[in-house]
Amino acid sequence: MTFAATILTLYPEMFPGPLRLSLAGRALEEQKWSLDTIQIRDFATDKHSNVDGTPAGGGAGMVLKVDVLAGAVDHAKRMQPKAPILAMTPRGKPISQARIRELSEGPGVTILCGRFEGFDERIFEGREIEEVSVGDIVLSGGEPAALMILDACIRLLPGVMGAASSGTEESFEEGLLEYPQYTRPQEWEGRTIPEVLRSGDHAKIAAWRKSMSEDHTRLRRPDLWDRHNGDRD
Ligand code: SAH
Repeated sequence: MTFAATILTLYPEMFPGPLRLSLAGRALEEQKWSLDTIQIRDFATDKHSNVDGTPAGGGAGMVLKVDVLAGAVDHAKRMQPKAPILAMTPRGKPISQARIRELSEGPGVTILCGRFEGFDERIFEGREIEEVSVGDIVLSGGEPAALMILDACIRLLPGVMGAASSGTEESFEEGLLEYPQYTRPQEWEGRTIPEVLRSGDHAKIAAWRKSMSEDHTRLRRPDLWDRHNGDRD
């Protein structure tokens, strides 16, 4: 089954963008995923093709019109009735690797990209849409956020990554950050690769990696560390 990605955007030219290259690009050629873009402007209802309006109550910027958004969302729903619809917004639920994994195991994803000041609130009341954020930063549009989410999903699709295990041994999959990695040369500017990694003792190496993962998570991401420990209770 092909993972179907549908992007609702005012800038369809931004896709597949960087996903044309490397792992995702090859997978696209091999039809492991498909990409459709929907131009939101095609659903404008007035003769000037307006997609935005001034904010009710005043203030800076422009707001995407709810009737135009609904037209685009409904069209996407008809094309991919089973795919969840995600809207990119800084006030959404922060995306997690667990949600990415769920999405990658489903039929695909439809992503609504905002611009300007964002969406008329009523679109979230009138349609079933999951509000998703890619972090506590403000982008100028949802497109780079959509590319991030697609990239993360695509690498998990069956047959896309080389070693099957590399998907599960990475940061976040176990609720921890990854252990440090090294490769040749053995010595660089006086710094050597930790001796244990050259010992050939697989149990010892695994124990070292686990303890490094735990230390890094505890020190760098106390939020993840608390959740990791909470999960085991
Ligand atoms: N006025 C809005 C910001 C709009 S930024 C606010 O203060 O919340 C314009 C568009 O960029 C948004 O509609 C959204 O689609 C996208 N965007 C910006 N930051 C984002 C983030 N952290 N995660 C996901 N999408 C984001």
